[in-house]
Amino acid sequence: MTQDQQTMQNIKCQILDLWTDLIGENLNNDEYLTLLKEIFFQYFDITNSEYLYLGKGMYFPVSVDAENGNITNGIPFAVLEPYFHQQYQFPNAFISILKEKYDFADDAILLRDANQKPFGIIILQKTERWRDFATTKHIHDFVVLISSVIQLIQKNYKANYEKKLNKELVRMTGIFHSSMDIDRILKAVLQGVSSAFPTFKSKLILSNDQDRHLTVDTHMFDYMSERTSTIEAFVSGDMTIEQATDLKCRLLNAPIKGRQGIYAVLQIFAPYDYVFVKREKDFIKHIAQTSGNALENAKLYHQSHRLVSDLQLINETSHRLNMKLNQEEMLVFLAKQLTKSFSPNETCFVLKGHDEYQVTTGSTAFFFGNSCEPYLKHVTDHFERSTDPLFVADFSNLVDDKVAFMSMMAIPIIIREKVHGFSIVLHNKPYFFSFDSFKLMQSLIRHSSLAISNTILREQLQEMVDRDHLTKLFARKYLDRYVEMSMDKDESGVFVLMDIDNFKMVNDTYGHQTGDAILVTIARHLTEMVQGKGICARWGGEEIAVYLPNQTFVESIDLVGKIIASIPKVTVPSVTVSSGVAVWHKELQANFQSVFQNADIALYEAKNNGKNQFRLFQTDDVTS
Ligand code: GH3
Ligand code: MG
Ligand code: MG
Repeated sequence: MTQDQQTMQNIKCQILDLWTDLIGENLNNDEYLTLLKEIFFQYFDITNSEYLYLGKGMYFPVSVDAENGNITNGIPFAVLEPYFHQQYQFPNAFISILKEKYDFADDAILLRDANQKPFGIIILQKTERWRDFATTKHIHDFVVLISSVIQLIQKNYKANYEKKLNKELVRMTGIFHSSMDIDRILKAVLQGVSSAFPTFKSKLILSNDQDRHLTVDTHMFDYMSERTSTIEAFVSGDMTIEQATDLKCRLLNAPIKGRQGIYAVLQIFAPYDYVFVKREKDFIKHIAQTSGNALENAKLYHQSHRLVSDLQLINETSHRLNMKLNQEEMLVFLAKQLTKSFSPNETCFVLKGHDEYQVTTGSTAFFFGNSCEPYLKHVTDHFERSTDPLFVADFSNLVDDKVAFMSMMAIPIIIREKVHGFSIVLHNKPYFFSFDSFKLMQSLIRHSSLAISNTILREQLQEMVDRDHLTKLFARKYLDRYVEMSMDKDESGVFVLMDIDNFKMVNDTYGHQTGDAILVTIARHLTEMVQGKGICARWGGEEIAVYLPNQTFVESIDLVGKIIASIPKVTVPSVTVSSGVAVWHKELQANFQSVFQNADIALYEAKNNGKNQFRLFQTDDVTS
């Protein structure tokens, strides 16, 4: 065996070894080629060599993807082709073309497939050992061998890559089919993408009807700020690819869809020049499709569960509301249900009083302060115009000022087709409430509206009974109950009975209507003066009673004196009043009948003493 034969034999063995050792090892193209380069070094002292493959009419190194149309820096096939009849021993003109790009190049090996079609070229240094070998007859065998090895490497690489993608798909599909956990499905999508494309970033953009409480890192779809290619994918349900100059990347948008809708868009950010080949797009499509179906199943599963618990909640709520709660109890109960169901930061109920909206019981403290203004104003304005419930995912989009709460749901309380109030829930995070929550809250409030309206009516009716029609003062019955309760729980109280002086004459002189107007004026004036200290009631015709619980005696006397002095000033025509005052103390074990009687006796005294004055009931009066 000659030296050259021996070399050839050794090379063959080594390449075969390389091949059997590494098959299935998942090396990438570069790594295989590095091993080949080592063979060139070992046998021919060649330190610099480069494999270029033929793609789109040019020779490129494997690190460049020829499918990308932008690439122009390869060596054009056309300029080398005239020399291709020359198998080895290339002329200088040919070498100088190579040298323009690879200055180490002194020689080349043309690579052809079994049909003699060129598919690549190896550029190398012409060392002494190489020159010697290249002149032997073995060179032909060697080139055929290298060509088929490189073809095998490429096929193997492709197969490995596909195997890897397929394995990933199988793994993910397993997760998708076995999980009802939306979080887990979305996580698997992101993990699948990152293991197939380890260097690319990816992002999940969810449609707005998703569960807000995921742990996986996702983003909410926003028509206002999303990229056109993403919106297009979301709306059309087809994959879109965009060369995003502003982001300096190639962006792929894959819609994640099920049979009933599109749930998300998977964004993959590749380098600007990257081209997704068909098998990669198929892989991504497959992930998107299977995860879409899995997501849909999981959602339906959760929806049916939620439906059952929603029904239970509505049922429980209706049941409780039918238990004749008063308005306060009812609103407190409803607030509790809202908190339990939606975990808001703030809750409020607003009811329409006499024409204006009033924040009521059941609302959190925030709604009794000033900071709630922008929210209340927005909602009130809305319900002035519409009876539709209100869903706000990001309140900061609606107002110029900085706001503390981004998410808001507001549901009207509708009674006989009119808005009688509303309930608001707020959360500081944007997109916090889901559409499902929105629907549930509507259900809850709708089911409660009738009960609320009943209590409103009942309380209005009660007020009609409790208040005197003309003066709007409390009715005597109400005062009776009030004094009775006070005598149970308070330490002491002052009862003041007032009677307008010579009122018959006022009526006779100015007419009954003027008399009525004077009564109303006095009632208003008294209410103002007594505010916060006690209550006023219409006792009889032109008699008004004032009751002051837990007031000191001195303060009460002072107040009565002021009332008597001021009434002639506020009435037109001016009238005076007389008054009898009775005090009770816990120790005296008074009953309320006797307190009234005592005041009456003192009033009689005042009248007898010349009117326009008050008299204090003294115990002696009874005995005398
Ligand atoms: P005095 O109390 O100073 O002894 O004299 P008086 O003229 O006020 O006498 P009295 O209290 O007995 O008369 C009550 C009068 O008040 C009789 C009635 O005409 C008048 N009155 C009672 N209720 C109303 C009312 O609702 N509207 C009007 N306009 N008058 C009333
Ligand atoms: Mg009278
Ligand atoms: Mg009178």
